[in-house]
Amino acid sequence: MLETSHPLNQPVSILKGAGKEAESSLASIGVFTVGDLMEFVPARYEDMRLKSPEEAEHDEKVTIEGMIQTEPSVMYYGKKKSRLTFKLLSGPHLINVTFFNQPYLKKKAAVGETVTVTGKWDRHRLAISGQTMEKGEYARGTDFEAVYLLRNAIPLKQFRKLVKQAIDSFGGHIVETLPPHLLKQYRLMERKDAIRALHFPVSHKEMKQARRRFVYEEFFYFQLKMQALRKTIREQSGGIVQKYDLVKLKELIDSLPFELTNAQKKAVNEICADMKSPYRMNRLLQGDVGSGKTAVATLALYASVTAGFQGALMVPTEILAEQHAKSLHDMLEPFGITTALLTGTVKGKRRKALLGALEAGEIDILIGTHALIQDDVVFRNLGLVITDEQHRFGVNQRRVLRSKGENPDVLFMTATPIPRTLAITVFGEMDVSIINEMPAGRKAIETYWAKEEMLGRVLDFTEKELQKGRQAYVICPLIEESEKLDFQNALDVHTQLTEYFRGRFTVGLMHGRLSSDEKDAVMNSFSANELNVLVSTTVVEVGVNVPNATVMIIYDAERFGLSQLHQLRGRVGRGSEQSYCMLIADPKSETGKERMTAMTETNDGFVLSEKDLELRGPGDFFGRKQSGLPEFKMADMVHDYRALETAREDAKELINAPDFWSNEEYHHLREMLNDSGVFTGEKLD
Ligand code: ADP
Ligand code: MG
Repeated sequence: MLETSHPLNQPVSILKGAGKEAESSLASIGVFTVGDLMEFVPARYEDMRLKSPEEAEHDEKVTIEGMIQTEPSVMYYGKKKSRLTFKLLSGPHLINVTFFNQPYLKKKAAVGETVTVTGKWDRHRLAISGQTMEKGEYARGTDFEAVYLLRNAIPLKQFRKLVKQAIDSFGGHIVETLPPHLLKQYRLMERKDAIRALHFPVSHKEMKQARRRFVYEEFFYFQLKMQALRKTIREQSGGIVQKYDLVKLKELIDSLPFELTNAQKKAVNEICADMKSPYRMNRLLQGDVGSGKTAVATLALYASVTAGFQGALMVPTEILAEQHAKSLHDMLEPFGITTALLTGTVKGKRRKALLGALEAGEIDILIGTHALIQDDVVFRNLGLVITDEQHRFGVNQRRVLRSKGENPDVLFMTATPIPRTLAITVFGEMDVSIINEMPAGRKAIETYWAKEEMLGRVLDFTEKELQKGRQAYVICPLIEESEKLDFQNALDVHTQLTEYFRGRFTVGLMHGRLSSDEKDAVMNSFSANELNVLVSTTVVEVGVNVPNATVMIIYDAERFGLSQLHQLRGRVGRGSEQSYCMLIADPKSETGKERMTAMTETNDGFVLSEKDLELRGPGDFFGRKQSGLPEFKMADMVHDYRALETAREDAKELINAPDFWSNEEYHHLREMLNDSGVFTGEKLD
C-alpha cells in the first residue's frame, strides 16, 4: 500500500541490534520491514500486575513484592546447576523464593532489602519459583507484556526491543487509514496509538481498545474489498436488462399446486428486480432443504425466457440434474417452454443435436451438470445462470463461473444454511436472499438419538414403516471395513440388513466407488420403490428427492458435523407422510452429545448452523479447506460478529459515497483496493 521509499517499508536491518542473523530469523516469521514488525500481532499478554499471594492462582505467573527475611544462600549441584533460596515477607505471608541457575542474583539480594520477584506461584507450599527479580519496590512500566508466537526464530526479549525501537523511531510515520468519521463514531484509537498500545499497553483497558480498533480495521478493509468487488460485478459493462412478462409469470405462479410462501415471494421479487435492472445479478439464494428453492429457480428461469433469453441450471450430480430436468419439464411444458438435459452421459449424435438446438435458440432452458460450462456449449442468448450447491467454492471459483457467459445474471443456490456471519464473509461480494420459512403443512421430522444397543428397536420401527409401503435410508460413515477406524461400513451393514430383511424387503447399496451408471441404476430403483431400503455412504447427501422415504437411520452419527447431519436428515420428510430420523450414536465428547441433542431439538437449519459454528469454529465449519474463508489476524468471526456487521454496513456506505473516488481522505483506502486486484479480477485474498 505504501511506496518502497516510505520509512515503514525500510528493511528491519536499519534497526540497531538487527544484524544479518536477526534479519533472516525475522524473515522466517514473515517480518521484513519496520512496518511488518509493528503489525506483528501478539499471541497473548502476560499479566504483570502486582499480586498479593491471596489473589494468585496456583501455577500462575505472578509478580510479588516483599522484603527479604533470611540470608540468601546458593547451593551448587551437578554441572553448572544451582539453587538460590531465601524467604520473602509479602504482607503477612512468609514466602519461599527459589531461583534456579541464577546464582548471580545473590548480589542483588540482602536481608532487609525490598525486591520484586516474578515467577510461578505454588499456592500449596506458599512458594515462588522465580524468573526475574528487580531491586526495590514494584515499578514496572507495563502491567501487561505482549507475548508473540515467534517459533523460536528469535528470543522474545530481543524481539520486544526491536518492536520498541521501531515504534520509537518510526511511529511518527504510521498513517491513519480509517476514515475520520468512523474513528469518531466508534471512538476508535488512532492507528499510531493503537500500534503502540498493541505492543506496550499501559493497562488492560488500553489493550482492549487497541484490539477493538484492529478488529474493526480488519473487517472494514475486508468488507471494503468485498463491496468494491460487488460494485464492480454489478456495474460491469453489458449487464442485461431482462424485461420479463409479469402477466405470464403470474399465470405460472397461479398454476402451481400450492401457494408460494412469503419467503419465496420475497426471493422471487428480489431476483426479478435484479434481472430487470441494468446491473448484473450476483445473488445467493439460501434455504433449507425442501424450503422451495427449486420452485423459485424455476420461476426465475421462466421469467428470463419470457424476456427472450435462455436459462441454464447447473447442479453437482447427474441424479440431481435428472430430477430437476423432470420437474422443470413437467412444470413448464404446458407453458410452451422447451427444456433439455445435458450431462456427461449425453454423447455423440444426441449431444451434437442438442448443442445445435441450443445454439439455434430452440432450447429455452438447459439443465445439467458441469458439462454445461464446457467450451463447446454455446447459447444463443444466455440470460440467467443458476447453480445449485455452490457453497463449497471460494470467490475465485465463482468468478470463473460468471465469466463463462456474456454477462448473464447469476444466481447461486445453497441448501446448506450458512450462519449470517459466515455468509457475509464468504459471500461478501454477493447479495443474499434467504428462504427461512417452510411450506405450510410440512410435518416436522421426528428425530431420535439411540445408542447402539437400541438398534433392534430401531429396526422394528423401520419394519413397521416398510410394511406401510414407505422406504428407508441407512447411512454409514465408511464404505468398507477400516483397520484404523471403528465405524460401521456400508458393505457390512448392507450384508447384515439384506440378511435381516430377507424374504420381506429388498436392500440396495450405494457408495462413491460405484460408477455413475451404477449409482444411477441404484438410485432409479430406489426412486421407483423397487428397493425398500437403501444403505449408503454420504454420497446420497446432495439433493436427492424420494418423497416416499420416511426413515433415515444414521450410524455413528457422532462422526458427522451438524450441518451434514441436517443435510442427511433432509432426504426424508419430502412427502406428505410423517418422517423419522434415527441417530445411532454413542458420542464420548461433550460437543458430540450437544450435537445429537441439538438435532433432536430442532429442524431449523439456520439454528443448527449457528450451533455448528459455535461448536466447531469458523475454520472447520465447511468441513474442508477450500471454503474461501479469509484469515483474519486478530478478528474472530464468531466473537466479533457485531463488528463484522457494522464494518460491512460502513464499507457499503463508503464505497457508494459520491466522494469516495475523489476525496483525499480516502486516498489510502483507494490504493489498497487497487493493490488488492478487486477491479481487475486478478487476485483476491
Ligand atoms: P428445495 O429446492 O429448497 O429443496 P423444492 O423447491 O424442491 O425445495 O421443494 C420441495 C418440495 O416442496 C417440492 O415437492 C415442491 O413442489 C414443494 N413446494 C415448494 N414450494 C412450496 C410451497 N410454497 N408450498 C407447498 N409446497 C411447496
Ligand atoms: Mg440484469
